[in-house]
Amino acid sequence: MNANRIHNFNAGPAALPLAVLEEIRDSFLNFAGSGMSITEISHRSKWFDGAINDAVDRTKRLLKLSDKFHVLFLQGGASTQFCMIPMNFLHGDHSADYVNTGTWSTKALKEAQLLGKQVKIVASSEDKDFSYIPKDIKFSNDATYIHITSNNTIKGTQWASFPDTQGVPLIADMSSDIMSQPLNVEKFGLIYAGAQKNIGPAGVCMVIIRDDMLKLAPDTVPSMLKYTTFVSKNSMYNTPPCFAIYTLQLVMKWLEDTIGGLENMEKINREKAQLLYGVIDSSDFYRGTAELESRSMMNVTFRLPNEELEEAFIQEALDNDLGGLKGHRSVGGCRASIYNATTLEAVGALTDFMKEFERKKG
Ligand SMILES: *Cc1c(COP(=O)(O)O)cnc(C)c1O
Repeated sequence: MNANRIHNFNAGPAALPLAVLEEIRDSFLNFAGSGMSITEISHRSKWFDGAINDAVDRTKRLLKLSDKFHVLFLQGGASTQFCMIPMNFLHGDHSADYVNTGTWSTKALKEAQLLGKQVKIVASSEDKDFSYIPKDIKFSNDATYIHITSNNTIKGTQWASFPDTQGVPLIADMSSDIMSQPLNVEKFGLIYAGAQKNIGPAGVCMVIIRDDMLKLAPDTVPSMLKYTTFVSKNSMYNTPPCFAIYTLQLVMKWLEDTIGGLENMEKINREKAQLLYGVIDSSDFYRGTAELESRSMMNVTFRLPNEELEEAFIQEALDNDLGGLKGHRSVGGCRASIYNATTLEAVGALTDFMKEFERKKG
């Protein structure tokens, strides 16, 4: 490991590949031969054009997107998508189906309700504290779209496969698992992801939108909140978050050229998750909080026998250069986020520490 760097299990903003950080460092004062920093150049320059176009192209190749899809880089985080989606797609007497699998899903559907839109909560896992992904969901047959959260960052659950929506566009908040494995994008009308979990720094949200969805937006949607605005201007209607997009471009390059694509990324991610869940499952000291078939490959949530031990665990881990293991403030407990950039070596260091901690305190 690099001097002074710790193993980072933060939920977001989260670890970035070391090679990406080093490339940023090395080119920070002179971006692409411009003689200026990426933070100083015009977004209308050929240098920035090179970066944003490469980010789009690599995203399209990694996800095998057909020409029907547009890749956008927006601001306002994933949270702004919660209102943009209903503003663009839901009007008149149309309604949308929402599946409620935790905090982020709840926020998404509340924004639609705030706007006075018609929302049907077709399934929820709130009855068991959001510890599972609902199955055999009956969707409405007249929904304009169906909204899900593919990975629930706080509760540590993830959809193992996506539901058959009978042609109704599926919309997914993939903030915490986009690019973690191959994805069949065809049934999705829109995918969005705040970059700061798995694909970049804070400040940019990736949106992948299917062409037919663009027709749904009425003229009254404000320009900055309308998808067509950004599709027609290659995400540069106004000044985009240049540095965040450039970093995202480097992460896409790392995924393609160093990792070798999403099939390889999935293999590594599965190995990491198996190693960590393996330690949890073989112990009576650690207890996973998500139901087995709904477990997340990205956010591993677990408890210890009591809160004092949890506090000691998190502190001692940090003393051993293992950071970011505290559960979300709304749920407590422990959480190890093992996104793409968290190495197998880091997870190995964590599981060694967990076994040693159990031996001492269990
Ligand atoms: C972090 C997160 C969000 C919020 O993202 P912001 O970019 O901070 O708005 C939304 N959804 C999910 C699933 C998340 O993990």
